[in-house]
Amino acid sequence: MLGYLLARAGIDVVVLEKWGDFLRDFRGDTIHPSTMEVLSELGLLQKFLAMPHDETRQMKIHIGSREFVMVDFNGLKTLCPYIAFIPQSDFLNFIANEGKKYPGFHLMMNTEALTISEEGGGGDWFKSKKWREPI
Ligand SMILES: Cc1cc2nc3c(=O)[nH]c(=O)nc-3n(C[C@H](O)[C@H](O)[C@H](O)COP(=O)(O)OP(=O)(O)OC[C@H]3O[C@@H](n4cnc5c(N)ncnc54)[C@H](O)[C@@H]3O)c2cc1C
Repeated sequence: MLGYLLARAGIDVVVLEKWGDFLRDFRGDTIHPSTMEVLSELGLLQKFLAMPHDETRQMKIHIGSREFVMVDFNGLKTLCPYIAFIPQSDFLNFIANEGKKYPGFHLMMNTEALTISEEGGGGDWFKSKKWREPI
């Protein structure tokens, strides 16, 4: 998301991802109302909602024969008063693909950051698994 925002602002940005895909450690599949507000401000909400997802407006529990509403998003004064469920890799691919529409956005998969360079140049500060050697 930061890479997307920087590229959108006209800043050249390189996003490094050490794995070949975003289907990694589970980071949750829920997109919250506040996140969708941000997506709306960025002009991405309609495209996001066009992807397959589930929407949860209330959370209930059943105790015996009785039903209790534990959480109710319907009262939220927001564009999307619900939680959207979508696989995290779908969401990250979506953001990455939107980022690629900007010329300054560069996503390097299979590329592991090795250290931080304060000089901003020189040295083998990342390596690409694809090419198997520092570049
Ligand atoms: C269990 C869990 C559930 C969550 N559920 C939700 C949720 O439902 N909704 C929600 O909005 N938020 C949720 N969060 C919070 C959300 O996932 C984080 O705020 C978000 O993932 C942070 O993004 P990030 O890019 O900073 O870090 P990460 O998502 O951790 O991304 C870091 C990336 O860097 C890569 N990487 C690591 N080391 C290197 C290296 N040396 N070189 C190159 N790449 C590297 C990793 O492979 C990873 O893809 C959850 C978090 C956790 C832990």
